[in-house]
Amino acid sequence: MAEKKGRVFSGARPTGRQHLGNYLGAIQNYVALQDDYHTVYCVVDVHALTTVETTAELSSNTREMALDWLAAGIDPQKSIVFVQSHVPEVMELHTYLSMVTPLGKLTALPTFKEKVRENPNNVNYGLVGYPVLMSADILLYKADTVPVGTDQIPHLEFAREVVRSFNHRYQTDVLVEPQAKVTKIPKVLGIDGERKMSKSLNNHIELAATPEATEKRVMSMVTDPQRIRRSDPGNPDICNVFTLHKIFSSPEEVESINRDCRKAEIGCVDCKRKLAANLNDHLAPFRARREKLAKDPDVVRDVLLDGAGRAKVIAAETMAEVRQAIGFFDSGE
Ligand code: SF4
Repeated sequence: MAEKKGRVFSGARPTGRQHLGNYLGAIQNYVALQDDYHTVYCVVDVHALTTVETTAELSSNTREMALDWLAAGIDPQKSIVFVQSHVPEVMELHTYLSMVTPLGKLTALPTFKEKVRENPNNVNYGLVGYPVLMSADILLYKADTVPVGTDQIPHLEFAREVVRSFNHRYQTDVLVEPQAKVTKIPKVLGIDGERKMSKSLNNHIELAATPEATEKRVMSMVTDPQRIRRSDPGNPDICNVFTLHKIFSSPEEVESINRDCRKAEIGCVDCKRKLAANLNDHLAPFRARREKLAKDPDVVRDVLLDGAGRAKVIAAETMAEVRQAIGFFDSGE
């Protein structure tokens, strides 16, 4: 087996059942990286606390998301898959990193300002420190590679600056500056054809939905807004249905839709039906695996606990080095 290139870390908030946007934007990439890197994938449930109003669904959302990850091909033999709160060392590292992070830098971040706009009544201390905790996630596992979309490059640059500040302050090289692995992450629009696919906007298509429910969602997708009547020629270039055809349909089908839509030789109803059928075919193996995994109530728990155990080994090593670098009194234990 070829030697792996380094360690990848990536985390995602527990949002429950995953949708097509999550699948195309992250999960597929997670699966692809497993063979070339030591991969560490984390359900970042502590991050979720910065904005949630209730934690009633936190546990079930974690389980449902992990189920989707496993069914989609994230392999616990190849990857460490775990839950952030199960390795509390990350909170300790977060505290130490916060001491080398100027407050003004955090409050000036566009993502912080955006969060304040979204949650004006809940601007909490954790929200300000969010990027520090995110840096701690990466640095605790000494990940040298972090898959990011171009919009996330500033977040990674922040983590790199934290490393430089920490290492400089304590005259150490214990923390590793992670490199961005810029991944072409497609912006998957929701069924409204306008905004990014998102559960909170209810414009998503759930991976684990039934074929019937999937078809219903696809049939409600917004198409080329200029195409009012069946006899109007359409423009596939501005149609989200066509974007998904390019991912889930055969090159021949894509070519014929591209041609026939422009001449009004295919209607949107037929076009969407084709997409729903191809999407359901694509997701059938995932759904079968998920159903099988879901029947065993222990499987997700076992994978996540085993992953936490493996993550803790790395975390403990890093934290021993970090504490020593800071210069705490060594009890000798
Ligand atoms: Fe979009 Fe297909 Fe309708 Fe053309 S025929 S506008 S590609 S849904």
